[in-house]
Amino acid sequence: MSSQENHRRATTIPVDRNSAADMGSLAGEEDTAGLPSPGGAAVDQPRIARAVREILAAVGEDPDREGLRDTPDRVARMYAELFGGLHEDPRTHLQKFFVEQYDEIVLVRDISFNSMCEHHMLPFMGRAHIGYVPDGRVIGLSKLARVVEVVARRPQVQERMTETIANLLLEELEAKGVAVVIEATHTCMTIRGIRKPGSLCVTSAMKGIFRSNLSSRSEMMNLIYGPRQ
Ligand SMILES: [Zn+2]
Repeated sequence: MSSQENHRRATTIPVDRNSAADMGSLAGEEDTAGLPSPGGAAVDQPRIARAVREILAAVGEDPDREGLRDTPDRVARMYAELFGGLHEDPRTHLQKFFVEQYDEIVLVRDISFNSMCEHHMLPFMGRAHIGYVPDGRVIGLSKLARVVEVVARRPQVQERMTETIANLLLEELEAKGVAVVIEATHTCMTIRGIRKPGSLCVTSAMKGIFRSNLSSRSEMMNLIYGPRQ
């Protein structure tokens, strides 16, 4: 179990390497490491505020007019909140599991989330459904929502978010199977570009028995999409 131990110790390194790289580019070139420091590097709010002021000027606004005067600082605080997940390791929420001999499906449906599309810096929001079949390790249900929250609060693409959550559960719980389905509306598709309000993007990641066993997979999909009381 020593590899597991090593794994556990590496808690300051985000699972999601791409997100870490994104943080490097957000923070600028001089952030050579591109990874959060062990204590959890803070979001550089003054830097965001300067950038927002610059954007306002670039679109032809007067950043000094009264209505906009506090906007750069306000946006900086908002980004610190929306990207706070970059400085948190979702694995910390999966360390306290219970040993329970339950080997049927556990599903938490309709976990709402907001995230930020990394291509447009526009929000996408929706619901995540997370199911797993334990192999001795059962996690508190609210922890699944916490994991979604941490992973969502990073510059994201929905596909990677889905895969990241599934892999986290598979690795930390050593589950027999993990299924993650995410449905989301992307404002970069509804308010700009192709402008298709109402469009829904659905992604899924099936691991373990949900990948290899068709009846397990359809049982899971029935639980997620079956009749709701
Ligand atoms: Zn987008």
